Amino acid sequence: MTTHSEYDVLIIGSGTAGLTLALQLADDARVAVLSKDQLKESASLYAQGGISVVLDQADSIESHINDTLIAGAGLCDEDSVRYTVEHARESIEWLIEQGVSFTKDGVTSETYHLTQEGGHSHRRVIHSADATGREVETTLLAKATAHHNIALFPFHIGIDLITSQKQLGESDNHCLGCYALDIKSDTTHQFLAPITVLATGGAGKVYLYTSNPDVSTGDGIAMGWRAGCDVANMEFVQFHPTCLYHPKAKSFLISEALRGEGAKLLLGNGERFMTRFHEQAELAPRDIVARAIDHEMKRLGDDCIYLDISHQPPEFIELHFPTIHQRCLELGIDMTKGPIPVVPAAHYTCGGLITDQQGQTNLSGLYAIGETAHTGLHGANRMASNSLLECLVYARSAAQHIRAQLPFNQPLPVVPDWDASRAKPAKEAIAISHNWDELRRFMWDYVGIVRSNDRLNRAQRRLTLLQQEINAFYQQHHITSDLLELRNLADVAELIIQSALTRKESRGLHYTLDYPTLNSEQPAQNTVIAGKSWDRDNTP
Ligand SMILES: Cc1cc2nc3c(=O)[nH]c(=O)nc-3n(C[C@H](O)[C@H](O)[C@H](O)COP(=O)(O)OP(=O)(O)OC[C@H]3O[C@@H](n4cnc5c(N)ncnc54)[C@H](O)[C@@H]3O)c2cc1C
Repeated sequence: MTTHSEYDVLIIGSGTAGLTLALQLADDARVAVLSKDQLKESASLYAQGGISVVLDQADSIESHINDTLIAGAGLCDEDSVRYTVEHARESIEWLIEQGVSFTKDGVTSETYHLTQEGGHSHRRVIHSADATGREVETTLLAKATAHHNIALFPFHIGIDLITSQKQLGESDNHCLGCYALDIKSDTTHQFLAPITVLATGGAGKVYLYTSNPDVSTGDGIAMGWRAGCDVANMEFVQFHPTCLYHPKAKSFLISEALRGEGAKLLLGNGERFMTRFHEQAELAPRDIVARAIDHEMKRLGDDCIYLDISHQPPEFIELHFPTIHQRCLELGIDMTKGPIPVVPAAHYTCGGLITDQQGQTNLSGLYAIGETAHTGLHGANRMASNSLLECLVYARSAAQHIRAQLPFNQPLPVVPDWDASRAKPAKEAIAISHNWDELRRFMWDYVGIVRSNDRLNRAQRRLTLLQQEINAFYQQHHITSDLLELRNLADVAELIIQSALTRKESRGLHYTLDYPTLNSEQPAQNTVIAGKSWDRDNTP
């Protein structure tokens, strides 16, 4: 059975980007927000460090722009960078109006405490202790829950976008909404809307080790690509240098802010090594720190390295890093007394669906915001704390653009129900879980921090086999959220591998042994993969 509903705007994803957009629109439009897990479950919830914004007298807009351009290694879109940086302050003020509480300089102080992170030449990261994302996400979610014009649908996973070409056979292609699976009742739902927005976050789960939560399976990027959206720069995957290394700590990040407050990276024998790799040592850009750690771990055959902030007074550590301190203590690690074992892990997807400054993709009626989108802000490498900022700035500009189109008076067309007639229940879930593991393992081994043509081709061969199996399984069996995510992860893997094979140089986050330097003979170029046309993808 398929149920139907219509809204003015359908937002898929309830992280910072999705909720900001919903709140910005809800006074003027009927908004639906889908989320495939609990509403708060998102990468946004786990963001620790904070949000970059120029507030300090000694800082400047030009300096923030310049730092972002340097980190982006020649591939940032300068207009996008300027637009983002110039709209940062008003975005933060809006968060404060919503009730978000940021850490002040002192108990009686009126000014906000700012931290400094890798690549930033000033202190410009506003934060809520070391749990900024939790503060932002829970505040926005409480507001959205209370708003009469926002309908929230937890545990509803978007299956595929509904498009006029594919579902109605029209020659013009525009987006009409999305089919979704209600995970709790195992029923499909047809959501129709003149405007659909993908705010589904990144794709860190395509790698074995990641700081991302389970929901980060690149669904929006894959759905958009299958529906015809062009995709850019998927080879640029940021590996966070420091995730907690402990068998019981799944995806727990040790914030870069520790290094901003003087934490040192050490080898097992206590030797400091980052000074050998970069003049900024521990505060070098993330890709350089991650590669240096990878290099040292491989050179020594070690499972992890160490991060030490124990020279700071215990009260300072407990005040600034309460969440990390508490989590480490639960695992028997006292960071006030000694170092924390850490490893690099996939952290941020710089590439995504290509959008303009209003968040529009090349598919009419479809927007993408947040980590799902490629706005040109990050170029070949994201600077720390610019991503939550991007969620806020582009959700607000998309809202402005959508609001200008209201009211939507045209009736929506009648669209066929989700066709599940050919699908029978799967007898064994093992095929799906095995393919999940295999995919994430070879992506880690062959498409990780250090790449080569051989490794990428090996990954491509394995992926082709896997995709055949996944597609056959998808055609024949009843859909589940695990199967949908696996199919999306395979599409994202294809985009990453193809983009990495296309780039014949090392730049930003993409490092390959076959072309270890920047290609300075040609102007820097984005890697663009055109959206699929639906007749090439004749799955239901
Ligand atoms: C541990 C960690 C720490 C970080 N720290 C910082 C930081 O300090 N500063 C900073 O700027 N950035 C940080 N980042 C990055 C930043 O958190 C993310 O880029 C940002 O939160 C992405 O927000 P989003 O709204 O685009 O996506 P998310 O917050 O990931 O939300 C995605 C939403 O989409 C939903 N969804 C996904 N697929 C589907 C589907 N098929 N159907 C329905 N719903 C779906 C999910 O359930 C979720 O609700 C951090 C990331 C991590 C993982």
